[in-house]
Amino acid sequence: MKSIFLIFLKGIYVNILRILFAADRVTSKDIRNSILQGKVKYPQAVNDESCIGCGGCANICPVEAIEMVPLEKPIEIVKGYTKTQTPKYDPLKCLYCFWCHDNCPIYAFYGKPGAIHPREVGEFKADPSKLLQEPIKLNANKIKEIIDIMAKDSSKYFEEV
Ligand code: SF4
Ligand code: SF4
Repeated sequence: MKSIFLIFLKGIYVNILRILFAADRVTSKDIRNSILQGKVKYPQAVNDESCIGCGGCANICPVEAIEMVPLEKPIEIVKGYTKTQTPKYDPLKCLYCFWCHDNCPIYAFYGKPGAIHPREVGEFKADPSKLLQEPIKLNANKIKEIIDIMAKDSSKYFEEV
């Protein structure tokens, strides 16, 4: 019993050293401070400028960590295609499988950084109004495969070649 008590005391002592004096720490000072101040910020996961609002990421996510929410003001990206919704990502549900990123059409069809990335989407901004007018450099089978995986209802946005 005495030894359990000593282990307990030692654990408290070591943790106090870690908190106050950075002993054994591997987290960055900035992250540590934001944790201690209750100001942790999640990385930005969605790049609204690159996103075309197709809903593929929400459809493909295996744990429903992405919900499509309607835009207050829909945006006509190209003639005939208007973005009406945008992804809302929930980091507490995410498994970090990255299917959403890898199958986002901005990445999968056009080879640009995807418009969603749970670790940090980054600063690259695609210009969908130009991108959607570029030819997709994939064969028809691959395009169909991606559409079948991703889309419950977005195949209407793509023409088979
Ligand atoms: S990385 Fe997260 S949000 Fe993206 S598909 Fe996987 S579980 Fe869903
Ligand atoms: S798959 Fe990419 S483009 Fe489509 S809604 Fe998700 S983030 Fe936006």
